[in-house]
Amino acid sequence: MSDGRDLSHLPPLRDVIATHDLAAKKSFGQHFLLDLNLTRRIVREAGNFNGLSVVEVGPGPGGLTRALVESAAERVVAVERDPRFAAALGDVIAASAGRLTLVEADALTVDPVDLVPAPRAVVSNLPYNVGTPLLIGWLKRMTEYRFLALMFQKEVADRIVARPRTEAYGRLAVMSQWLADCRTIMDLPARAFTPPPKVDSAVVRLAPRQRPADDPDFATMEALVAAAFGQRRKMLRSSLKGLLREPEPLLLSVGIAPTARAEEIDVDGFVALAKAWRAAG
Ligand code: SAM
Repeated sequence: MSDGRDLSHLPPLRDVIATHDLAAKKSFGQHFLLDLNLTRRIVREAGNFNGLSVVEVGPGPGGLTRALVESAAERVVAVERDPRFAAALGDVIAASAGRLTLVEADALTVDPVDLVPAPRAVVSNLPYNVGTPLLIGWLKRMTEYRFLALMFQKEVADRIVARPRTEAYGRLAVMSQWLADCRTIMDLPARAFTPPPKVDSAVVRLAPRQRPADDPDFATMEALVAAAFGQRRKMLRSSLKGLLREPEPLLLSVGIAPTARAEEIDVDGFVALAKAWRAAG
């Protein structure tokens, strides 16, 4: 009996789009990957799917979806907001031997942890307008995932993996690198997509970091990092004034110069500061 991994009989994606009249909608951030060799490469680079349940946000006509169904993944649940794609994905669902299901929903309203059992991963060519809020939501429960492999605009990908003392280093880098090992696994030029967006893209892989039991909670870190980078040109002793009663002694207590600026502080520095703030009540 078929294990649902042989999809070689399915028509090319261009034919699927033509048959179902699936003109891309800008409002839904629709830029499609139609080259199956490329989508297979993304899945290959993303990691080991053996036994994983995968949530894919925004399958669209199904290029990345097909590569996931062909992988060693146990099952794939695709969450798509645009109902037009249900018919286009019908053939893949039928060929998948029950391993692919489609959930018609706004991904901002569903938690992948509720959709599939562990061990799980999220893989997505994310719609530009909701990529960052989705990532922040998933980071909050990062230990629930083996990994996330996510395509962003290149500029957003760069902000996730940015190192201290660089222009791109900010809230997104600190929050992402605090909770996950983050690295760019692929760069894709705009012309890889149909229709091509205005900017290039990159795939970032995030795998959970083991965190100690006394780690600060998400809200504490988020508030601290937001205040610090909210006025990134200012010294921390002034940018943190709105948040902390007396920033100077707290900064000194964890070895950070009160004259330092947010972009000079590495992730461990922010964690130490958040812990000291919490301990100080
Ligand atoms: N995965 C396909 C590919 O790589 O060719 C399509 C990627 S396209 C960049 C983004 C997809 O996300 C579109 O199919 C779009 O309809 C869908 N989408 C947009 N906003 C969404 C949301 N809030 N929840 C779920 N899907 C969404």
